[in-house]
Amino acid sequence: MKPSLEVLPLNSWIETNGKPLIISGPCSAETEEQLVETARQLSKLGVVHAIRAGVWKPRTRPGSFEGMGKAALPWIQRAKEETGLPFAVEVATPEHIELALKYGVDILWVGARTTVNPFNVQEIADALRGVDVPVLVKNPINPDLALWIGAFERIAGAGITKLGAIHRGFSTGEASKYRNIPLWQIAIELKSTFPNLPIIGDPSHMAGKRAYLQELAQMQMDLNYDGLIVESHIDPDNAWSDAAQQLTPAAFGEMLEHLHIRKVDS
Ligand code: PEP
Ligand code: MN
Repeated sequence: MKPSLEVLPLNSWIETNGKPLIISGPCSAETEEQLVETARQLSKLGVVHAIRAGVWKPRTRPGSFEGMGKAALPWIQRAKEETGLPFAVEVATPEHIELALKYGVDILWVGARTTVNPFNVQEIADALRGVDVPVLVKNPINPDLALWIGAFERIAGAGITKLGAIHRGFSTGEASKYRNIPLWQIAIELKSTFPNLPIIGDPSHMAGKRAYLQELAQMQMDLNYDGLIVESHIDPDNAWSDAAQQLTPAAFGEMLEHLHIRKVDS
């Protein structure tokens, strides 16, 4: 039997007026000033629907910046008050979920290093039981469509219907100009497995370098993705994580202006 998911359309939980959902913000919340100012500049663009910020950062190796944790949550509250925009945060444990919701985070996402682990995803699903919050699930680091599908099934099985996918590319060991190889076919197969599941492109983690963002975002729009999540920072070169791939809010605004977007269904 073909699997199916009970998923609500994107516009039932965030109004985009038929346009692709645009999420942007820093890889990591670093300081109150950095977060609030990035959010303020993004909101001034007038085209951003939600702000992202990493609070708990799953780094591949120890010794890198692992996020400000709970201390960053009041900054998110302030940025929300100042911009009126909803916030998205990565969660990897039941404790993250509890704290994020307590501080008014609006959208949760599961990171690529978490989607690979079914025990971890099940813990997240169990913590989401009875909660009404949108959840976006990044593809697992490795090119395994079944793992990605399994994560949706676990989270949908807990009653979450505001679900979406984020395609951020895969780590295969193969040489590529991109940090993570797109392997578009996997996202296309996900879409044909779950036609109602919205899919959002993450050109930032795919690219790894800001020079490739425009072309990757364009490919995602050409594939009719439902939105984009793009990292931005007021001072990208000095970002505490993912410095090479972040854009200033102004550069992000320009990137959007140069994108050809076919999909405008109201
Ligand atoms: C992120 O969004 O900053 C992040 C850690 O991404 P990923 O899980 O795609 O590596
Ligand atoms: Mn990042």
